[in-house]
Amino acid sequence: MNELDNANIAGLRGSLDELDQEIIRSIARRLELVDQIAQQKASGSAGIRDPRRERDVLERVEAAARERGISAVLARHIFSEIIAHSVTRQAAFLSPSSAADREVAVSYQGAPHSYSDLAAQKYLGAMGVRGRFIGRRTFQEAVKELLAGSVDLAFLPIENTTAGSINQVYDLLQESDLAIVGEEMWKVDDCLASTEEVPLASIQRVLAHPQGFEQCSAFLASLPAAQRVICFDASEAIRSVAELRDPTQAAIGPPEAAAAHGLHVLRRGIANQTENFTRFVALARTPQRFDPRIPCKTSLIIGTRHERGALLRCLAVLSDNGLSLTKLESRPRPGRPWEYMFFIDFEGNVENERVARALDDLRVAALYVKVLGTYPAKATAPEPESAELRDAGATSTEPADAQTAPPPSPPTKAPALRSKQYKLADRASRQEDTVVRVGNLLIGDSSFVVMAGPCSVESQSQIQSTARHVREQGAHILRGGVFKPRTSPYAFQGLGYSGLDLLAAAGKASGMPVITEVMSQEQVRPVAEKADILQIGARNMQNFPLLREVGRVNRPVLLKRGLSSTIEEWLAAAEYILAQGNGQVILCERGIRTFESATRNTLDLSAVVVLKERTHLPVVVDPSHGTGKRAYVAPMAWAARACGAHGLLIEVHPEPDKAMSDGDQSLTFPEFASLMQGLGAVPAPTAERR
Ligand code: PEP
Ligand code: MN
Repeated sequence: MNELDNANIAGLRGSLDELDQEIIRSIARRLELVDQIAQQKASGSAGIRDPRRERDVLERVEAAARERGISAVLARHIFSEIIAHSVTRQAAFLSPSSAADREVAVSYQGAPHSYSDLAAQKYLGAMGVRGRFIGRRTFQEAVKELLAGSVDLAFLPIENTTAGSINQVYDLLQESDLAIVGEEMWKVDDCLASTEEVPLASIQRVLAHPQGFEQCSAFLASLPAAQRVICFDASEAIRSVAELRDPTQAAIGPPEAAAAHGLHVLRRGIANQTENFTRFVALARTPQRFDPRIPCKTSLIIGTRHERGALLRCLAVLSDNGLSLTKLESRPRPGRPWEYMFFIDFEGNVENERVARALDDLRVAALYVKVLGTYPAKATAPEPESAELRDAGATSTEPADAQTAPPPSPPTKAPALRSKQYKLADRASRQEDTVVRVGNLLIGDSSFVVMAGPCSVESQSQIQSTARHVREQGAHILRGGVFKPRTSPYAFQGLGYSGLDLLAAAGKASGMPVITEVMSQEQVRPVAEKADILQIGARNMQNFPLLREVGRVNRPVLLKRGLSSTIEEWLAAAEYILAQGNGQVILCERGIRTFESATRNTLDLSAVVVLKERTHLPVVVDPSHGTGKRAYVAPMAWAARACGAHGLLIEVHPEPDKAMSDGDQSLTFPEFASLMQGLGAVPAPTAERR
């Protein structure tokens, strides 16, 4: 090439640069118009998306491209991205919390210029929000930043269209109490890059993340001589090659990272699958609300009931309410072998009445429901022939949800006569009995479950010997209070968390699940880590914040009847737990205050039969607190079984006279043995007599 050629090329490149600036200016002008439309939409009721208009735009630009001999595919690709960006930007107008003058701190897993970093930038950029991005080595560390409050969002990949779900992130969602507030899609488009523009044949080593090697295996087969070096992530591969400054070394990674490190892209589009997308979720400490006009998705975790067709029934709730499922994933429950949780995504906003109704139905159909969040669905440009487009037509001024979902079919069961105060607990919403699973035990079916142990955990030897004894006599679950609600502040208050460890150890040693009381909200999560059932004591039956908190954890709850509470009040208290998504509630009759003073309380056994009529929840009886006197406990326990209770809660102590609480009503070991023997002689009511 002579100098004249060089000058010509420089001139042409200058013109190209000018044109690029012009393209950017045009996009900026287009976005200004988009913002003006968004302002108009903000004052009306029309939905953000207009699928018919989006299709028309794409068809017009494709036609224009064809006329000029440009690839229509390229035109569609570019404009799909521009439309997606515009839709997100319009949605941001309706979300006051994403004010553009704020800086949002985001943690992610990986290094700068990794796909997570790029996708996080795209996510905030589309909303016109400034970001500060903090890369961490692991997903856990990224989430830790969020929990510590040092960032506003954690931005994590949740699935890839080629590799599938990212299990670690699903498990984090299950264990933590974080909310999904957004999603983003990123097209994975790996390239091979090096420090100089060299022929591919001269490459001697290729650096990449293991997934990079896997996803580009077909291309790499054309470089058989090149040695492979595994890196922690793609951006580390790129950075290493940039630092080595050796043109025989190349890295596989995002072209954006290559550009940032001054590398030359030797080949683009080297992945086996060219259509490879990763979906990311933005997590926050608290859920965010979104305007119902924004097309949203909602994500849930559900635990199914222990009955045939349980999952199918949950999915039917969504389709019966006209909601379309976009994802279903099952994951094992951490620490609970052979138990599974289901992750569900569907189109809809929890602010929408239809979704609220579906969630109510789901709380009856499932045993545990955790709403992970409602968030704007990332707009992927619709395909010309999609059903969504065919159906859209004249409905484009309807609220967003109505555009994409068919009208609901009539509900299968008429919930007309449900109690207003406790619709989920009401028998009218569920004919079948609820069965609560605790390890391998079922509470609420035809079995009779005995929970026994001391009122308070007092020492290792006391709880260990009691556990051994009650287990030998046929008890199923070990009880023991560690946070004690005592009438006088001077009385023994319980051993607290050290007592919980003693209880958990005794449960393990004797092979029994354990139940213990929680008295305050802060105790709920730490106690749920070690106890199998959380007890809400009589004095806390109407401690509503406490009820809500146990409603959010995935642990069975034993709800005792309040000292002077009616059955209706008791069921309304249970409803607080159910309404939060935890359907694993066991009711416990423990006696009420009456004028009678011969017993500590009056054990209301008629409550058992009343409850069986009014609710589907299991009912157990505590004759220890119900009578307050050792001698009365066994006969009342037998009576409880005879009238159809699903189980008992009994206080037992090695030396009741020395007990630090409730000695008068605690049974000795021999007394407990004879209670259990007598129980065998009591016929439980048959299904018809129940
Ligand atoms: C207990 O079970 O030890 C207890 C304190 O029960 P209640 O809440 O029924 O008094
Ligand atoms: Mn007690």
